[in-house]
Amino acid sequence: MDGQYLPMSEARISVLDYGFLHSDATYDVVHVWKGAFFRLDAHIDRFLNGLDKLHMSIPYDTDQIAAILHNCVALSGLQNAYVEFICTRGTSPTFSRDPRDAVNRFIAFAIPFGSVANPDQMQRGLHAAISDVVRIPPPSVDPTIKNYHWLDLITGLYDAYNKGAETVILKDANGTLAEGPGFNLFTVKNGHVTTPEHGVLLGITRQTVFDLCALHQIPCTAAAVSEEALRTADEAFISSTAGGVMPLTRINGDPIGTGNIGPITQLLTEAYWNSHADASLRSVVSYPDP
Ligand code: PLP
Repeated sequence: MDGQYLPMSEARISVLDYGFLHSDATYDVVHVWKGAFFRLDAHIDRFLNGLDKLHMSIPYDTDQIAAILHNCVALSGLQNAYVEFICTRGTSPTFSRDPRDAVNRFIAFAIPFGSVANPDQMQRGLHAAISDVVRIPPPSVDPTIKNYHWLDLITGLYDAYNKGAETVILKDANGTLAEGPGFNLFTVKNGHVTTPEHGVLLGITRQTVFDLCALHQIPCTAAAVSEEALRTADEAFISSTAGGVMPLTRINGDPIGTGNIGPITQLLTEAYWNSHADASLRSVVSYPDP
């Protein structure tokens, strides 16, 4: 950050940064698996698109961002990493309230890889609850700009914990399902995979699921997904850079399908991790000699 590489414990921002004061920021998260970034270009493109929509600018182009992220991971020595890069509105030298006066700030960090689902949940599937908290509507905050407007997701998580669940799925203002804290949702019915079309972040993992479904000739579409469709699905899963394809086996306390991880979820989970060997999707990190 601010043009330097630091140990994580020394990375700090000003309390006056609008990223902190107003959630006025955009970010992206890419992972490194077995020493290589996965779909790095897609993550940087999404990030730059968010910057553009928010009228932010940084003094780095795609290649320079990629080089900074490579350096962060190389310096961390991590073979499996969770790599976040952020642009905050920054601070205004005059404390002006006009966002155009602020100097935007770029921050990137690499920490050990983390997953939405822990190993036990990967074995038996996550238990989710559908919350009455409505996901912030797209006309208010564009969900395709990756953002920190998470109070709906966090409120929903507490709602889910109160119901004995482990994670939450929020609905949109139309009452159809949207997404959860850090993941997209998928249902499987009669061999057909469906994911909510609107009001969600266009996840890079979601795109990978589309690609893998096409490869394996599994029909997959983006469309409205009702609460009823999830409750009566044969299988369900979620997708995120933090964990890949992860099974969902209970909703509001009831089993989804048989309550076990279904065959299409299983196939896509394996295909997702196998696709990490595809040279066209990898960007290999050069670590310094030990
Ligand atoms: N939806 C939200 C709100 C997210 O924050 C994320 C990622 O963290 C996702 C979906 C999944 O996106 P991706 O697959 O690009 O990680």
